[in-house]
Amino acid sequence: MTPDAPLQEGYDEASIRTLLGGGPSTRVLVIAAHPDDETIGMGGLLKYLANVAFVHITDGAARNMRAARARGFRTREGYADARRSELQKALSRMRAAPIELLDLGTPDLDASYNLVTSSVALAGIMKRLAPAVVFTHPYEGGHPDHDSAAFSTRAALALIESAGMAEPRLMEFTSYHADGEKLAASRFLPGAPEGLGIALTGEEKDFKAEMYACYGTQKGALKHFPIGVERFRPAPVYDFTRPPHPGRLFYQNFDWGLKGAKWCRLAARAMDGLGVLQGNLAGGGLLGRLISVFSR
Ligand SMILES: [Zn+2]
Repeated sequence: MTPDAPLQEGYDEASIRTLLGGGPSTRVLVIAAHPDDETIGMGGLLKYLANVAFVHITDGAARNMRAARARGFRTREGYADARRSELQKALSRMRAAPIELLDLGTPDLDASYNLVTSSVALAGIMKRLAPAVVFTHPYEGGHPDHDSAAFSTRAALALIESAGMAEPRLMEFTSYHADGEKLAASRFLPGAPEGLGIALTGEEKDFKAEMYACYGTQKGALKHFPIGVERFRPAPVYDFTRPPHPGRLFYQNFDWGLKGAKWCRLAARAMDGLGVLQGNLAGGGLLGRLISVFSR
């Protein structure tokens, strides 16, 4: 893959091999923050894959109930159930049923406060399923749950590495981030290598549009995510102790009580916690190893 690769028209065997290191039956684990992020990021690619497990960090329903009430739900659980059903319906369009469909049950907007728990849970899932490739979100300040998915996925990789297991290939799909005052979708933060970009064919767009249509409660939000382009890249190195970009992060446009600096403090605290845990698992001196995984 070269930086800023031009868009290729549709998925073919070569592009699938580039992304997976193998054919469509390669074991893939998709780690997404919310039900629908998998479709936004890689709905077109999902048309072709036949051996995929999904883990959603959150159940898509926030404790503040704002989105739930606006959609006519009286309980958080009711809204979470509706989102789970939409996800199942969307994924039922795939050629093979997902091998597993898990969620960690964290409320929407709470992933940042559960980084250690999520990381340990993801490591357990990775050990059990032994995926060859993991897809997740980039670290880009679009949504704190997305950034938390980026963090916890890497922390889980560090944990399985310390247990002596082979690490899967880590890839990223696009989510969204700030572009000045606006939202940028279908692309990574400016300046980052874009990896492989696909302009979906008519058939691929139809497939992805059908998946979008399953997400009735997210209709308003999904309007902001055009379906025509999907981009992927091998996961880059991040420093989770610094915000992903200078200036205002996209999620700071919302009254969620979380700023980039606070998120970074939560991440630093989780790294400490995971370092201790890893030390218990496999002997001393492992905090350094965990950090070396994070910064390599
Ligand atoms: Zn999301």
